[in-house]
Amino acid sequence: MNRRAFVLSGLSSVAYAAVPGNLKITAVKVIVTNPARAPLANYVLVKVETNQAGLWGWGDCTCTGSELGVAKFLEEHMAPGLMGRNPMRIEDLWQTLFFLPYYRSGSVHMSAISGIDMALWDIKGKVADLPVYELLGGRARERLLTYTTASGRDFHEVEENARKQMARGYKVIKVQVLTPGMESGYSVPQSDRQRAATQKAYEEGLPPSETWEPGAYVRTVPKLFDYLRKTLGDDIGLLHDVHERITPNQAVALAQDLEPYKLFYLEDPLPPEHLDTFRLIRQRASTPIAMGELYVGAWEGLNLIEEHLVDYVRNDLAHCGGITTGRKVATACEPKGILTAWHGPGNIAPISHMANAHVSLSVPNFGIEECEVNWPPAVHEVFSDMPTFADGYVNISDKPGLGVEVNETAAAKYPYLRRLRPTIRRADDTAWPY
Ligand SMILES: [Mg+2]
Repeated sequence: MNRRAFVLSGLSSVAYAAVPGNLKITAVKVIVTNPARAPLANYVLVKVETNQAGLWGWGDCTCTGSELGVAKFLEEHMAPGLMGRNPMRIEDLWQTLFFLPYYRSGSVHMSAISGIDMALWDIKGKVADLPVYELLGGRARERLLTYTTASGRDFHEVEENARKQMARGYKVIKVQVLTPGMESGYSVPQSDRQRAATQKAYEEGLPPSETWEPGAYVRTVPKLFDYLRKTLGDDIGLLHDVHERITPNQAVALAQDLEPYKLFYLEDPLPPEHLDTFRLIRQRASTPIAMGELYVGAWEGLNLIEEHLVDYVRNDLAHCGGITTGRKVATACEPKGILTAWHGPGNIAPISHMANAHVSLSVPNFGIEECEVNWPPAVHEVFSDMPTFADGYVNISDKPGLGVEVNETAAAKYPYLRRLRPTIRRADDTAWPY
């Protein structure tokens, strides 16, 4: 019988002896908090508690657009399946939760599993007194290349903002520009009129509405890259996120038109269902493709990996099944030379960013880390640790587990804030992907 004693370090500051075989899950606590008091910033956190005093794990189940659905699903349909089970058996519990509701997969179910999975890895790391990346094989690199966004209302403003980020040390930058004639777009400044309409909808508790036409957009993006290569040069890595807002044929043409500008990658050129068009893009253009943030079911996106139709996988570890799934996806990509670029926007909690970093540090085929590093003070008040930025790279501490604790008292000060995602419609009022 394993009677080895492990001493827990870290913020709980409770020294104790944990016998892994005797551990049991005693409570699953769900917290919804929005410390930034901002749209798309409600975090759904899960705390898995054990029968060992002072031993618990934190996970992030945030699924923007379905936050309260995930919280209720966790409490009613996932938590009972964990009670009394040994938290060390991560793979077994992952499978248990996946099959538990019978009608499985989907963003709500998989986000719930993702957060539980992170919390279980957090517990395992604390028991072992090791950071999670050590349990995944150890560091395969010292730091993680990262990128940030530079956007603007016109090309010159994008250039100015890119130069500011380059001065901070960023070596790769995502560039997005407002399309002429549009009031808004993905990851670009809104017009004053759109901003006022969005605020009014927020105050009424309704989803804002934005109008989008892809034709002008696909004509503008290659001109942006032509401008930026002439002004910023060839050394800076540039990438761009389409956010699935164009037609399949436009996606093929855009990947071709962007070839001369040697992108780091072109992200989300298509909705995930358009497998045939990914084949067309591959046949006709050498622009690197990144894809995966919407994959939530088991093995979704596997065809794209098997046929090597993408160059970077961007699964969101808060939505696709956590650290356990992330590690498996990376392994599936490894023989193809496909690299990881886990989805890491500011609308997933710092716990997810830490989970991303542990996997990224340990897999051989890491590509780049999307990582929020400019959190508001209230987020720092709630979360003890998050990746730190220096000279274009991020890194994490070597604290046991995921290395991040949640101040529950502080989180309670910042409750759920109803700010619904916008609906996107064509000029003729057709509903369109965000
Ligand atoms: Mg994206």
